[in-house]
Amino acid sequence: MINHLGLKAYGKINLGLDVLRKREDGYHEVKMIMQTVGIFDKIDLIRTEEPGIQVETNLYYLPCNENNLVYKAAKLLMDEFHIEEGVKIKLKKFIPVAAGMAGGSSDAAAVLVGVNKMFGLGLTKKALMERGVRIGADVPYCIMRGTALSQGIGEILTPLPPMPQCQVLIAKPAINVSTKFVYENLHANDLKKEDHPDIDGMVEAIKRKDLYGVTSRFGNVLEKVTEKEYPVISQIKSQMISLGAVNAMMSGSGPTVFGVFTRPQAAEEAYEEMRFGQGADLAKQVYLTNFYNCKEVSNHGV
Ligand code: ATP
Repeated sequence: MINHLGLKAYGKINLGLDVLRKREDGYHEVKMIMQTVGIFDKIDLIRTEEPGIQVETNLYYLPCNENNLVYKAAKLLMDEFHIEEGVKIKLKKFIPVAAGMAGGSSDAAAVLVGVNKMFGLGLTKKALMERGVRIGADVPYCIMRGTALSQGIGEILTPLPPMPQCQVLIAKPAINVSTKFVYENLHANDLKKEDHPDIDGMVEAIKRKDLYGVTSRFGNVLEKVTEKEYPVISQIKSQMISLGAVNAMMSGSGPTVFGVFTRPQAAEEAYEEMRFGQGADLAKQVYLTNFYNCKEVSNHGV
């Protein structure tokens, strides 16, 4: 019997993000390139005799009730399979919150994988992904991970070959961005042809293992909306490029910005500068990491 599981929930960035249209049901149809990075939340899943779900987290401002996505994930499987015991979920956050890195979705994904394993439910990855989309559009991808093309509302996933290795500098300014606000102000059905990034070209570049073919196509249709509201995003991008990034872009609906480096030393220096030098006024959280492929992050640490 499994009484305890230590899970790792990895964050993602978008190498490309396009919104094709707003559907009649209010959802946005997207076309995005998703990429796992090496920043992860730690989750302890503990089996309890007492029924129910208890959530603890190190961040006072996150909900510990049914509004936390880890609670929703555990409840979904425990209700369906009539599990009479309980679980305690201890969540330690490292992925910036409300940052466009799918932190909550990744936590939910890890808990789905963990509960499935702990209680021997025998669900396949595909079956977990089908359930995950009920919690959030990015949850199926967070179960799959690695490099992937994401379509539909995020649930149609095509795995892609791993990205060439490079260094990724991630910086989150001290602002919080509402995903809802950004999508509402995008006016997706009024976008012009030139507003859309070349996602198909990026997929081809990934298949060719052509890093510059990818970075030269960096594009996020949401960037204009968030940047207009928060000029600090353009400032971080310019700062990263002046510090030697091949290119830099905002992830998801923001405000996190990432820059890609091909020289480890330049990346280290840029990290120091963003943390302690001129960039320190712009960014509150700064990380230096890599792209992770699905083999490196397999099994959510289970
Ligand atoms: P995405 O990239 O999918 O838009 P995000 O990075 O913008 O995600 P999250 O960090 O996943 O946003 O969370 C956004 C909101 O969801 C938070 O403000 C928080 O109140 C709520 N939330 C619920 N559960 C969690 C969780 N486990 N981790 C983080 N936030 C959570």
